[in-house]
Amino acid sequence: MAFIVGLTGGIGSGKTQVADRLAELGVDVIDADVVAREVVEPGTDALASIAQHFGYHLLDQDGRLKRDKLRQIIFSDKQAKTWLEKLLHPLIGSSIKTQLAQINSPYGLLVSPLLLETEQNKLVDKIIVVDADPSQQLARAINRDVTNLAEVEAIMAAQMSRNKRLSKADIILDNTRDLISLHNKVDQLHQHLKTLAEDFNA
Ligand code: ATP
Repeated sequence: MAFIVGLTGGIGSGKTQVADRLAELGVDVIDADVVAREVVEPGTDALASIAQHFGYHLLDQDGRLKRDKLRQIIFSDKQAKTWLEKLLHPLIGSSIKTQLAQINSPYGLLVSPLLLETEQNKLVDKIIVVDADPSQQLARAINRDVTNLAEVEAIMAAQMSRNKRLSKADIILDNTRDLISLHNKVDQLHQHLKTLAEDFNA
């Protein structure tokens, strides 16, 4: 099994920027958000269970999950959220495990917004937290998605606090400056992670 690095951070913190840069440097990247979509593709047992539990109005004409609608339900209904997590987290976890076993680069990267909130952190050897000021997270997320302030604020309030997240980091990646600065830091980090991976495999 390859050395696996986990990457997390709050909404708009810069996870995708970091993961894309590492992918350019040749690192195999597994994105938990992508896996989370795969496990509820049309035809999956999980999607059938969701439709049965919450109603078939959650499916569009092509039988695809209306993720926004489901998100709205679980945002205001704790029981619904727990039910959904019990269904999906094990499926997501086992699919991630399968993909991690196929990593073919000096180390692998698992990028996940829920790395610290789920068992996913047990799948990684090092935890990197990408960090920005909450005001920067807000501005960047709004700028990217053209969504409204209240929505991003609500998501931030529901996520783990900045301090708690940072306390769980092995490595903190500062993203409070510009993108050039971030990319330079990621390039340096990549060298460091390669060394850690070599030690791990020695
Ligand atoms: P989410 O959890 O919402 O998916 P994320 O952590 O993946 O967010 P990114 O998508 O990487 O965050 O970054 C959010 C937005 O902010 C993107 O449009 C990205 O290009 C921009 N961004 C990230 N870092 C910086 C930076 N240092 N300076 C300016 N813009 C940045």
